Amino acid sequence: TEKRKQAIVIVGYGGMGSYHAKLIKDNAFLEVTGTYDILEERRKASREDGYSAYESYEQVLNDAAVDVVLIATPNDVHKELALQAFAAGKHVICEKPVTLSVSDFKDMVSAADAAGRVLMVHQNRRWDEDFLTIKQMYNEKTIGDLFRIESRVHGANGIPGDWRHLEAHGGGMLLDWGVHLLDQILFMVDSKMTSLSSRLSFILGDEVDDGFESVIEFENGVSVLIEVGTTNFITLPRWYVKGTEGTGIIEDWSLNGRVVTRNQDAVKVEPKPIQAGVGLTKTMAPPSEEATITGALPEPYRQSSSFFDNFAAVTRGEAEPIVKNEEVLRVLNLIEAVFESARTGETLKDFDIYPA
Ligand code: NAD
Repeated sequence: TEKRKQAIVIVGYGGMGSYHAKLIKDNAFLEVTGTYDILEERRKASREDGYSAYESYEQVLNDAAVDVVLIATPNDVHKELALQAFAAGKHVICEKPVTLSVSDFKDMVSAADAAGRVLMVHQNRRWDEDFLTIKQMYNEKTIGDLFRIESRVHGANGIPGDWRHLEAHGGGMLLDWGVHLLDQILFMVDSKMTSLSSRLSFILGDEVDDGFESVIEFENGVSVLIEVGTTNFITLPRWYVKGTEGTGIIEDWSLNGRVVTRNQDAVKVEPKPIQAGVGLTKTMAPPSEEATITGALPEPYRQSSSFFDNFAAVTRGEAEPIVKNEEVLRVLNLIEAVFESARTGETLKDFDIYPA
């Protein structure tokens, strides 16, 4: 039985909104039937791209042919737009960060539940191959049990655009890249968090953070460093991970990288001292060639379906969401804790990011 594709309208036709149109173009279940943006200039751009543009949000909501609203506006208006969409009986895909506070998100989930509609947050970086490779290493113990995970994104362009510089719009890097990196870690490490220490950076003099660092410790012994920077003219690797049997590195988005593990068969030989600086060291001498094995990164773990296929299946009641609202709530709880740790300068202990 041939079913009609669900009609989806993109609200906020900026950088990400127009990218969504491309992502959905060949989807078997969803079809972009229009867009809406507050700026006439962006409505014009949409028409030029071949998508009709509504003149107001009310028009979108009043159009019974619209099944799904995809929200890709600045962060501060996600909530309001979503509540209106649920009241009009639409499903909602919402960009990250879903909204700016835990309590706002709870209102959104309640509204979705009351309307019997789906709310799914676009945590697309759960599908990134670099992340899925690390997740594979974590699960399969490719280099033993991971006990240290360093996840970094570095740029040198400062904070981009306009609204991302402003607190009122939910700007800053913690609410931007931070949401993705924190979400990835919580999606991977299934253990209770025991401590959190964070600092935000304000190198560029914006009212919002232009980067941040967080160290998170988990009950299972995993320690995570997350770092986002926009003033890094030399970038550090995307991932650096240590396991009980070796070390792994992913340099970049092209998945250049390697794993180096202990060679179990090698006869143990004392390392030869090397000259280091003006001194001598045995401790920091590289292991002998036979002592280690250098290998390729493992094949990344695969998600069962794409974000949009999964969303469509969830609306049909045929699948569990890959991005669950309980998980989104945890990330928002964690973000509030990161802001608190940064503000107070304190390491937070025994806080609960998994409240009911
Ligand atoms: P942008 O500034 O390029 O685009 C935002 C658009 O929304 C603009 O065209 C603006 O005119 C429009 N807009 C503002 N208020 C509106 C309203 N009330 N109704 C309708 N349109 C409105 O911003 P962007 O970079 O595209 O970011 C948009 C959202 O997408 C943000 O939430 C951001 O965090 C998210 N994003 C996600 C990813 C990802 O990979 N998941 C990547 C980039 C951006």
